[in-house]
Amino acid sequence: MSGCDHPGLLPMEAVLERLLALADAAPIEQVEQIVLAEADGRVLAEPLIAALDLPPWANSAMDGYALRLADCSGQALPISQRIQAGTAPTPLEPGTCARIFTGAPLPEGADTVEMQENVELDEAGRVHFREPLKVGQNVRAQGQETRSGECVLPAGTRLGPIELGLAASLGAARLSVRRRLRVAVLSTGDELVEPGQALGPGQIYNSNRRLLIAWLQRLGCSVVDAGILPDDLQRTRAALGALGEVDLILSTGGVSVGEADFLGIALREAGELALWKLAIKPGKPLTFGHYQGVPVIGLPGNPASTLVTFGLLARPYMLRRLGVQRVEPLGFAVPAGFTWAKPGMRREYLRARLEHGRVVPYANQSSGVLRSAAWAEGLAEVMEGSTLAEGDMLRFIPLSEILG
Ligand code: AMP
Ligand code: MG
Repeated sequence: MSGCDHPGLLPMEAVLERLLALADAAPIEQVEQIVLAEADGRVLAEPLIAALDLPPWANSAMDGYALRLADCSGQALPISQRIQAGTAPTPLEPGTCARIFTGAPLPEGADTVEMQENVELDEAGRVHFREPLKVGQNVRAQGQETRSGECVLPAGTRLGPIELGLAASLGAARLSVRRRLRVAVLSTGDELVEPGQALGPGQIYNSNRRLLIAWLQRLGCSVVDAGILPDDLQRTRAALGALGEVDLILSTGGVSVGEADFLGIALREAGELALWKLAIKPGKPLTFGHYQGVPVIGLPGNPASTLVTFGLLARPYMLRRLGVQRVEPLGFAVPAGFTWAKPGMRREYLRARLEHGRVVPYANQSSGVLRSAAWAEGLAEVMEGSTLAEGDMLRFIPLSEILG
């Protein structure tokens, strides 16, 4: 059984496909040139092309002795020079070897390095090679990692510590990246107050605002914090009108069917809005629309629903707008450490941990319970229409895959 079998319930794949198509149609095209120190988390706008060979010259992988193997037929070789990393050697004198250190350039004429642990020095300072040698051993050939002109990172790559290290190794001082995605965050609901204020009757603290703003910042977005929208049409209109230039409006709450949905009304007046009922749990209702041409994603208000829909749908959508192709989190198959007796109509994303290599869900999976996700290490995916016995395999998506 799949979500398709239930009229009106959209399967996860279909929703993601729609969102990614919408993202492809609204790419962020502006490009900035920025220094490496500022590029963590940004997305490459142009491929990174190697401007040099890596390594730029053949060098030693070991502390040892460099020689031309043809010169060595069992006899000891005198040492004719000493080559430290960061120095320029002279051509190797025939019939000699060179003392060499890791990362130092191989002298012209040498083709082999023997590590220092495998040789003996005699009183005359000559080097005896004990082991049989192979030509090219312990030599890092010029260009073995990268050839000048090669594409090392394609456009659309998200830059992290590894990519920045790689760019630095090629001498790139600046990179072309997409400008940051500007995202407005709105929380809706009369019941919401901010930490630091006293709770009145029926009120709760606004958790989604902090959750989303911190998350968006990690994703490299620039965030417009639009605060809390009360359940009031005039004030909702005013708040939307006051948003500056943004690329995406992200709201939480007010998307359940049948509710006095002021955000929905205000958005429809100035644009369009579709309510999608997703075949997932938590996170069934999701809205997508446009307000004066700006895309709007309305996430469900319960914090665990916000987390799941943001992480699995809004995040991929946002990254795709920046040109990232591989936007879906990696997951891996892990045996269940629990049973699932009743097949559901919706795919469940259980907040879960790995214990002794098995998936264990948090006891309270209510969509209002954010504590479940703080305890969890990932989302365990129980497919619609399926049951599980202990030991059956299911997909586990580490939270670390979606949080950054
Ligand atoms: P709604 O979609 O507005 O009906 O909200 C669904 C549930 O999520 C209600 O229990 C709300 O109180 C709760 N909720 C909505 N927004 C937030 C928020 N920003 N922080 C915490 N809980 C929220
Ligand atoms: Mg509400």
